[in-house]
Amino acid sequence: MESWPIGVFASVDAGLGVKWDVIKELGLPTIQLHAPHPSKRDRATAEELKKQLDAMNVRCTAVFGGFEGESYADIPTVVKTIGLVPVETRQSRLAEMRDIADFANWLGCDAVALHLGFIPHDSSDPQYAEIVAVTAELCDHCATNGQFLHLETGQETAEGLLEFIAAVGRENLKINFDPANMILYGTGEPIEALKVVAKHVRSIHCKDGTWSDKPGETWGCEVPLGEGDVDMRKYLETLHEIGYQGPLTIEREIPEDPVRQKQEIGGAIELLTRLRREILG
Ligand code: MG
Repeated sequence: MESWPIGVFASVDAGLGVKWDVIKELGLPTIQLHAPHPSKRDRATAEELKKQLDAMNVRCTAVFGGFEGESYADIPTVVKTIGLVPVETRQSRLAEMRDIADFANWLGCDAVALHLGFIPHDSSDPQYAEIVAVTAELCDHCATNGQFLHLETGQETAEGLLEFIAAVGRENLKINFDPANMILYGTGEPIEALKVVAKHVRSIHCKDGTWSDKPGETWGCEVPLGEGDVDMRKYLETLHEIGYQGPLTIEREIPEDPVRQKQEIGGAIELLTRLRREILG
């Protein structure tokens, strides 16, 4: 397979990716898919979607879990609502993630991904050990399907992620690296972070953003690819340096404006196509 097939983050019914019918119009070889609503995570739906993707010559490279009740409204809300971190929903969401992994497996996809949420930064916090345990449990379920679990970056520093991955101690635990999230959440300079976590990176997002004037307290701003503080050329050069050959998945979540979303994704495809040619030759 060629290096760096371009892709886009897509949705069937849930999540903020491009709509299903836009996939064909974009003509890209890969997608990452936001998991559908729970009522549609059955085998028949997965097999039907796989048939449609095969007909479009599109490969699904990761399925992202997402849950009812999650909100990215602001950073404190993220802490309270996202992923497997909130205690009240942890077990039910773990069960959902198992279902999502099975759904991905029926779709022929060997990677499941998620925002785990804000892991306590102090590893002696009792919640830390519990989140480690629940992540290990999910990894073990994925392993029965021959799958990897990819953690979306953003809420932890690179060093924090390394420590967490070591604590979980599962070979199939990997990273979906999102450079813009490092900036939006104020968790670190993305190119340096990428070098630190390099050996764990198995998928990536191509997304751009600008720093907040109060990093870590308020959001930075998500902007069209190439217009933010990531430095896309440097990002791709660094991916090349670390030997990453997987898909370049564009993530641009402005579902309130599908026309602009499509235009901006078009611009991102042009930029990535040009940089890929210049860097890979
Ligand atoms: Mg992302």
